[in-house]
Amino acid sequence: YSPERKGYAPIRQDYEDFYTRRMFYRIHDCWNRPICSAPDSHIDVMERTAVSGQKPLTLTGRVRRCLNLGSYNYLGFAASDEYCTPRVQDAMNSYGWAMCSSRLDAGTTPVHLELEAAVADFVGKEAALTFGMGFATNSIVLPALVGKGGLIISDSLNHASIVAGSRGSGAKVKVFAHNDVEHLELVLWRAIAEGQPRTRRPWKKILIVVEGVYSMEGESAKLAAIVAVKKKYKAYLYLDEAHSIGALGKGGRGVCEAQGVDPADVDIMMGTFTKSFGSCGGYIAGDRDLIAYLRSVAPGHYYATSMAPPAAQQIIAALQVVSGQDGTDRGSRKIAALHENSNYFRRRLLDMGCNVLGDWDSPVMPLMLFNPGKIAATSRLCWERGVALVVVGFPATPLLTARARICISASHTRKDLDYALEVLSEACDLVMTKYNASKTMLS
Ligand code: PMP
Repeated sequence: YSPERKGYAPIRQDYEDFYTRRMFYRIHDCWNRPICSAPDSHIDVMERTAVSGQKPLTLTGRVRRCLNLGSYNYLGFAASDEYCTPRVQDAMNSYGWAMCSSRLDAGTTPVHLELEAAVADFVGKEAALTFGMGFATNSIVLPALVGKGGLIISDSLNHASIVAGSRGSGAKVKVFAHNDVEHLELVLWRAIAEGQPRTRRPWKKILIVVEGVYSMEGESAKLAAIVAVKKKYKAYLYLDEAHSIGALGKGGRGVCEAQGVDPADVDIMMGTFTKSFGSCGGYIAGDRDLIAYLRSVAPGHYYATSMAPPAAQQIIAALQVVSGQDGTDRGSRKIAALHENSNYFRRRLLDMGCNVLGDWDSPVMPLMLFNPGKIAATSRLCWERGVALVVVGFPATPLLTARARICISASHTRKDLDYALEVLSEACDLVMTKYNASKTMLS
């Protein structure tokens, strides 16, 4: 058997060990349409087109009514909302859709300033700066914070935007095993002992970068222990709260609130508005001096077009609902519903014998498929039964840890969740490996 004979892309050198090579060929032997390495082989499984909004029940792919288990619409703000939508419409009428200018030129409106004040207040920091895109926030800000002669210590499962920002910074990047605080300390200790390459000078700055909730694992950073390490070695801590802001903690204030960590102990708080707040863009929150510094040095602030005012208004309104400033308890009810839905779904999947990653309260629920050959079959089977599922495999995950990444929303009803569980149970019987079977496969 030769992959070249069938026209597949060659296997990357670093995956060429005996075990993965054999596994890779066996997977390809089982499925006549390979998933892993042929660039055009996943057409009907990924990149399906959603044709209605982010309501839990939406239309995807070749027009089939589906229950949406794939969007990050954690608090249900992405569909129209009785409080947010009229305010977004007002912003649209006042400012139009786009500013067509950078923040430093003609792109700053009162809405942008109000948003930055609201974000800083919500996360418990002195000031905040917003950007038009979450990915760009990491990839722009990390190089502005640390450069040549600096050291970034990054969790091995950090998001691609963090990897892009770290690589682009020119700093030395060292990676520690995912969420392993002992290994973090070891890597940090060794790097400090060795100093900068060749010159052995001390590092100009050390930045530890972690996520609040890991987007492919569904688990939270061990923040209190990480804070203790950063204090011990006088490093700075950068926390990406893309999946935890709005979703974790009783008041939705993220992983600090959920774990009882003082926000003052996190030097740089980053987050996105594309999940819990149903909008677009990202933020950095921190001390007043830090934000003033970033305003003047982060090129994405003064060279990129500012966020659309209606998008900014959507976030302000969502923050008002979440923090009860709309005069109702709708925000806290949404957060409670998100936790209740997430814990119910996780409990039921575990009871079904499925192997699910992540922590309680986390709306991100990776359901392990392991064998990448199951990716297409699982997705297709669920889709045929009206459940839109996001399936992820190599190279986004290691070769043998393919998974379905389920995202739960406060706006899923119990009926929605029970239906999804019914479909997933059927999928488990037909294509997924349940816990014991998967352990046998891997042993
Ligand atoms: N950080 C993390 C941890 C993410 O998961 C993502 C994307 N899901 C981003 C940053 C980029 O955010 P956006 O999609 O808003 O650009």
